[in-house]
Amino acid sequence: MAVEIDIFTLFPDWFEWLAEQRHVRNALAAGTRIECVNFREHTPLGAGQVDDTPFGGGAGMVLRVDVLDSALRAHYGVDPVQLRSERRVIALAPGGRLLDDPLVDELAGEPALTLLCGRYEGFDERILQHLSSDVVSIGRYVLSGGELAAMVLCDAVLRKLPGALGHERSAAEESFSAALEGNPEYPHYTRPAEYRGWRVPDVLLSGHHEQIERWRRERSRERGAPAPGRDGG
Ligand code: SAH
Repeated sequence: MAVEIDIFTLFPDWFEWLAEQRHVRNALAAGTRIECVNFREHTPLGAGQVDDTPFGGGAGMVLRVDVLDSALRAHYGVDPVQLRSERRVIALAPGGRLLDDPLVDELAGEPALTLLCGRYEGFDERILQHLSSDVVSIGRYVLSGGELAAMVLCDAVLRKLPGALGHERSAAEESFSAALEGNPEYPHYTRPAEYRGWRVPDVLLSGHHEQIERWRRERSRERGAPAPGRDGG
C-alpha cells in the first residue's frame, strides 16, 4: 500500500529533511510519493503576493482564498470545489479536528492526501469552508506555520504503511492501537536487568509468555485508565 501526498506550502525546503528519514525513505521506495507545491508560484496576484490584511482590522496577514484556489486548480486541473469530494484536502489549523490514532488510521487508508500549510494569521475562512475536506490540528497550541504539523501528520501516517518500519509487528501493537484497546503501550525494558538498583520486573525475565502477555495488557490498561481525581475518576 502506498499513498500520494501533495503538500501546499510556502516553504517546500522544509520537507527535504522529512524525505531523508529512514521510514519515509522506505515508504518512498515502496511507491509512496510526496510532492511539495509552493503556492506562491501559482498566485494570480503581482509580486508573489499570497496574503492580505484582515477585513475588520487586527494584526497579521491572512492567506487569500483566490491564491489557494488558483494553486489547487493549476496543480490538479479541476475545480477545487469538486476536488475535495474526490480526495482528502486537509487544511492544517490549530482549531481543527485533533489528530489522533483513529484519524491517522483513517488517513493511512486513503490513496491520496493533500495538505495545506498555513502561515501568518492563517487561512481565509472560505479556504476551510469551500476548498478543503478536513481541517486538522496536531494539538491545542499554536505553531508559526503548518509545515511542522504536516510533517507530524506524514510521519504518523507513513509509519502505518506496511514495510515502513521494516518489521511488521511494531506498528500493529503500539500505543492507541486496536490491539491494545486504544490504550498507551506497556513499558519496555532491555539490558542490563538491574541498574543502580532499578530492577526489571521479574515476570519479563521469567520466560512465561502467557504471563508476560497478561502483565503487558494489564500495564497498558492501567496507563489508559483516567488518573484518579480527574475525569470524574
Ligand atoms: N491565527 C491562528 C494561528 C495561525 S498559525 C489562530 O490563532 O488560530 C499559522 C499556521 O500554522 C496556521 O494557518 C496553521 O496552518 C499552522 N498551525 C499552527 N498551529 C497548528 C496546530 N496546532 N495544528 C495544525 N496547524 C497549525
